Amino acid sequence: MKVVTTLADIQSIAQRFRDEGLRIGLVPTMGCFHEGHLSLMRKAKEKTDKVITTLFVNPIQFGPSEDLDSYPHDLERDRKLAEKCGVDILYAPDNKTMYPKRFASNVHVAGLTDILCGASRPGHFDGVTTVLAKLFNQTLPHVAIFGEKDFQQLAIIRRMVTDLDFPIDILGHPIVRETSGLAMSSRNTYLRDNEMEAALSLSRSIAYAQDLARREKVDATAIIQAVEKEITRHKECSIDYIEIVNCRTLSSCTIIDSESQILLAVKINNRIRLIDNSQLLGN
Ligand code: AMP
Repeated sequence: MKVVTTLADIQSIAQRFRDEGLRIGLVPTMGCFHEGHLSLMRKAKEKTDKVITTLFVNPIQFGPSEDLDSYPHDLERDRKLAEKCGVDILYAPDNKTMYPKRFASNVHVAGLTDILCGASRPGHFDGVTTVLAKLFNQTLPHVAIFGEKDFQQLAIIRRMVTDLDFPIDILGHPIVRETSGLAMSSRNTYLRDNEMEAALSLSRSIAYAQDLARREKVDATAIIQAVEKEITRHKECSIDYIEIVNCRTLSSCTIIDSESQILLAVKINNRIRLIDNSQLLGN
C-alpha cells in the first residue's frame, strides 16, 4: 500500500488506474480506524480493482465549539490497518493541499442539510459535500462507499452526486456495532467507563422502538416519547433529536411503515455527541 499526500501524486495515480481500465473504489474517512471503516474498505476491495482510502480531518465540517483540535489521530496505526484490508492507496493530504490560500468555493445541498444533524451543526454538511466534491475530483472513483451510521450524510451525498452528475456509484454499508450494540465511532474513544451505560442507551432504545413498532399499532409520536423516556433515564444524556423519518426523503413520518427510519443524536455529559439510527420495521 502506498501513502500519498500530494495532489499531483493522487491525480496521476488515479488517472493511471483509469487509463489501465481499472475500477477505482473510494472510501473517504477522517481516520482513527475501527471495524466500521475497515468493513467499508473490504467492501470496496470486493467491488473494485483499486481501493483508495482518504484520511483527512476536514476542518470546514467542524463548528467552532466542536472537537476538531482533539479529534483522535494515529496515522501509523491507520496505515497498518488499511494495508491489512487490501487498500492500495492511502491518501492523507494536509489542510494546505485541500484548502490553499484564496479557496472560496462551497457545495451546498439545500433542504436535506437543514434538518436533523444539520439543525444543530450549521454548515457541517456544506463542509462534508465540499470536501467530497474535491476528493471525488482528485481520486476519480467509479464507486464510493459510505456508512449508514451517518444516514443523513449518505442521503445528502446521493443527492449531490445525482444533482451534479458525478459519474460515481454511491454504495451504503450497514452500521457496524460493538457486541454491546454501541455503533462504532471514532468518538467512542472519548467515552469514559462510567459513561458507557449512557452511550448504550442509544442502541438499546432503538431496539425498544423496533419492538414497539412491530408489536403494537403505535404512531411515531408515541415511539419517540418512549425512546426519550428511556434515554433521559441516564442523567448524562441530553437529547439533540429523536426523529422518525422516511428513509428516502428524510421527511418526518407519523405513520410507521417499511420505510420508517429512527434517527437519534444524543450528547453524553455535554462532551460527546453520538448518533445512531435504524429501520423501525425490517431487519
Ligand atoms: P468518519 O471517519 O467518521 O468520517 O467515517 C468515515 C466513513 O465510515 C463514513 O462513511 C462513515 O459513515 C463510516 N462509518 C463510521 N462508523 C461506522 C460504523 N460504525 N459502521 C459503518 N460505517 C461507519
